[in-house]
Amino acid sequence: IKVTDLVDESYKRIAEVDGKVQSFLTLDEEKARAYAKELDEVAPEGSLFGLPIGVKDNIVTKDLRTTCSSRILENFNPIYDATVVQKLRASQAVTIGKLNMDEFAMGSSTENAALAKTKNPWNLDYVPGGSSGGSAAAVAAGEVLFSLGSDTGGSIRQPAAYCGVVGLKPTYGRVSRYGLVAFASSLDQIGPVTRRVEDNAYLLQSISGVDPMDSTSAQVDVPDFLSGLTGDVKGLKIAVPKEYLAEGVQPEVKQSVLDALKVLEAQGATWDEVSLPHSKYALATYYLISSSEASANLSRFDGVRYGYRTDNADNLLEMYKQTRAEGFGNEVKRRIMLGTFALSSGYYDAYYKKAQQVRTLIKKDFEDVFENYDVIVGPTTPTPAFKIGEKTDDPLTMYANDILTIPVNLAGVPAISVPCGFQDGLPLGLQIIGKHFDEKTVYRVAHAYE
Ligand code: GLN
Repeated sequence: IKVTDLVDESYKRIAEVDGKVQSFLTLDEEKARAYAKELDEVAPEGSLFGLPIGVKDNIVTKDLRTTCSSRILENFNPIYDATVVQKLRASQAVTIGKLNMDEFAMGSSTENAALAKTKNPWNLDYVPGGSSGGSAAAVAAGEVLFSLGSDTGGSIRQPAAYCGVVGLKPTYGRVSRYGLVAFASSLDQIGPVTRRVEDNAYLLQSISGVDPMDSTSAQVDVPDFLSGLTGDVKGLKIAVPKEYLAEGVQPEVKQSVLDALKVLEAQGATWDEVSLPHSKYALATYYLISSSEASANLSRFDGVRYGYRTDNADNLLEMYKQTRAEGFGNEVKRRIMLGTFALSSGYYDAYYKKAQQVRTLIKKDFEDVFENYDVIVGPTTPTPAFKIGEKTDDPLTMYANDILTIPVNLAGVPAISVPCGFQDGLPLGLQIIGKHFDEKTVYRVAHAYE
């Protein structure tokens, strides 16, 4: 099999289905084909040699449009590659194009997207999840073999669950954020979306590691993730938080988790019910912290430095205001206002500082459980995918969708979503959460279950 054929198949499939699925915002066909030809002339060296990959559109790619699904960056061409993109290149993967998402990664359905509307490949009336909806849908629809997403509060795992694919959020610091357009810097991580657990481990292996360009990337060794895929979970101790199977979680979803636990038990693992008592505060904590960080991060889009600038202004201040008013979508504006409010003097102690304190308690809940257990298991989402348009008028129910993924980001630990059955023809996801920097055990359990 030749790389040119693989790349050809990828573009053929995109031509066939992307009119409906709308995973891609930008294709890089000419360069991808040229690179494929080059690879056909050399001996394979990289671990991802010749494999077609898609990249979420908040990860910058040199000379390839990077929009974050926002009008404000609609014509933005970065002048450098993100570290993960450089690493993909070093592994000899072929970048096919850029994938749709919620604007600046704010959302859970890819409906907050200014430039395209991605659909769930399993049923086009349903959302693919978000914010990495394009990353999950492209893999589920067979357009690319794998993709990169980003996860701030669930944006890799939730769409992976909704589209029936495997998605991992690495430990905070495992993967460089250099070149990831920042949403909430203390929570954001880039991670792999794939069909199978093994592919996921390969992709994480290739993008992990300390990076001098990202001071929050961690000085820790990158283990051989693949060597954990033994299929053996004998003696492994699983914790199941009662809060993760409580009200709001649909009975079918709960049942799918209990069935998955039986599979793992049959292979020699044991499980107990535990508690993560501060989970109920996670949603409020997350929206305060993430919006505060977003309000600071997004101040750089001012019409001067990047992308769009309004024509409707005759002085500098008006230019800033009009550019942002015209360039940002409603959800982005809502977050900026919420964050600016939470950080403003007089409210800082009551909201932002309090949220940081609760974040520490949430992190400690996880540490307490991990003193006695190897992994935590539960559903990825309380329900399967919802209908397009169903939650767009009600931001709070949209936010509530992330209730089971958000605590993981606040704690900084790694977690994967693997497919675990269907409800009414729509996929469900099993979430496996690990200790800091223990993606290896997460993969081991996911692989044994898969
Ligand atoms: N849905 C969550 C939000 O809207 C999480 C997004 C993400 O992980 N990027 O903030």
